[in-house]
Amino acid sequence: MTGYDSVPTAGARLSINLDAIVRNYRRIVAMAPRRIVAGVVKANAYGLGASAVSSALAAGGCSHFFVAQVSEVAAVRAVVPPDAVIYVLNGLPAGAEGACIAGRAIPVLNSLEQIAAWRAAAGARRTRLAAVLQVDSGMARLGLTADAVDQVVARPELLDGIDLRFVMSHLACADETDSPANERQRARFEAICARLPALPRSLANSGGAFLGTQFHFDLLRPGIALYGGTPRPDVTMEPVVSLTADIIQIRTVPAGAGLGYGLTTPAPTDRIVATIGVGYADGWPRRLGNRGSVFLAGVRAPIVGRVSMDSSLIDVTAIPEAARRPGAPVELLGPHQTVDDVAADAETISYEILTQLGARYARRYLGAQTSETLRSAVA
Ligand SMILES: *Cc1c(COP(=O)(O)O)cnc(C)c1O
Repeated sequence: MTGYDSVPTAGARLSINLDAIVRNYRRIVAMAPRRIVAGVVKANAYGLGASAVSSALAAGGCSHFFVAQVSEVAAVRAVVPPDAVIYVLNGLPAGAEGACIAGRAIPVLNSLEQIAAWRAAAGARRTRLAAVLQVDSGMARLGLTADAVDQVVARPELLDGIDLRFVMSHLACADETDSPANERQRARFEAICARLPALPRSLANSGGAFLGTQFHFDLLRPGIALYGGTPRPDVTMEPVVSLTADIIQIRTVPAGAGLGYGLTTPAPTDRIVATIGVGYADGWPRRLGNRGSVFLAGVRAPIVGRVSMDSSLIDVTAIPEAARRPGAPVELLGPHQTVDDVAADAETISYEILTQLGARYARRYLGAQTSETLRSAVA
């Protein structure tokens, strides 16, 4: 993989540590021995790049991948070994059967309609087609309803022609360790599975992986934990991303003057304010205006005024002078500020911060070399 362009043409530099992703993956593998641990790489691997991430995970021993949409299959298929398995969580939109088969993807069938369409596709091709069956164990989002499960139980021929690989469900509160909903969903999932053909089972996302082995079943589906997000409040994963901008300009804003759009937040004293070239068009939340922070030389600097489309203002009055000159680096994500910290300031979740990371950042992947080494070691 290449480094950043030598000429700084972007507002900020995003670095993505592929080795850290693989180490986070292996941590979950170590927690769930003899289970399959898949990698969830939907939404462009949570914004970090489906190709780079999938190939690093494959090199690190991952052979099962989940995307959300059929349109996401090709990028993963292109970089993983031929025998890697790719599942589509949202299932099968009407008419997408051919695309799914062409990508050798396995749809997660969520409804009787999707089951019927996949069965028809198998019949038309005089073959059996692999699928995963999702059941709703209480989240009310995707998967067979209780009525639909009854129908499948009453009429097993509905599944003729379908080679079911496993049954899955999804936890609504896996990040809330003490939520009674987790055990309720686990019990309901077990009860539903007991009525269906005996198949491997899958329930755990990242949070579920940390809820205990009774949630692991046969296949785990972590996403956010691979990317350094906190899967539950008391568990920290290795950080994966860092985001660094440079100061564009610096000035003294006199006492009593507001700043930025709307001239918000006048201060009682003079302050030194710096501008960085990162704004809401880069996925840096507008909500961080007058509430978020960045770090210069390890010292916190508050974001002041509203976040603009292409820039943000930071109060650097308290920053040592050498660290606040034009061109000086500003940490937005890194050792002093995690994705979860920024998410908390913006009143959102790490998932949203990652998946919104801007397309304009200069991106650099770290650790690809190691992944190459791992790949040849695995081959
Ligand atoms: C996104 C998703 C996952 C991964 O969830 P994380 O919380 O990121 O680990 C697993 N399973 C399903 C069904 C999902 O939609």
